[in-house]
Amino acid sequence: MDCIFCKIVHKEIASEIIYEDKNFIAFKDINPIAPFHILIIPKEHVPPLDQIELHDKELIGEMILTAKKIAENQATLQSGYRLIFNVGRDAGQTVDHLHLHLLGGKKLLWL
Ligand code: 5GP
Ligand code: ZN
Repeated sequence: MDCIFCKIVHKEIASEIIYEDKNFIAFKDINPIAPFHILIIPKEHVPPLDQIELHDKELIGEMILTAKKIAENQATLQSGYRLIFNVGRDAGQTVDHLHLHLLGGKKLLWL
C-alpha cells in the first residue's frame, strides 16, 4: 500500500521520531503550525476516524493516553496542549492513516 505514514513507520521515509513503543510512533510534523507539533500514529495501517468502528475503541483510547504520556514529558507543554483529529476534506485531512495531532509550545488560538 502506498501510504506515506506506513513508510515513516518502516523508516523508508526519514522523520524526527520523538516516541516509539510496540503499537505507536510519534514524529514531528514536517509542516508545523505550532512550536511543538507532532503526529501520533498506530504502527499498523488504520484508516481515518470516519472509518473507525467499535472494535477500534481500545486503540483510540491508547492513542490518546500515549499523547498524554508524551505531553507529560515535554517541558514546553506543561502550560497546555491540544489534540486534534482532522476528519475529511473540510478539516484539511490529507493522509489516510489514522493520526492524532499534538500541538503546543505557545498560547493556541481557537481557529
Ligand atoms: P492531516 O491534515 O491529514 O490531519 O495531517 C497530515 C499531516 O502530516 C500534515 O500536518 C502534514 O504536514 C504532515 N505530513 C505529511 N507528509 C509528511 C511527511 O512526509 N513527514 C512528516 N513528518 N509529516 C508529514
Ligand atoms: Zn499507512
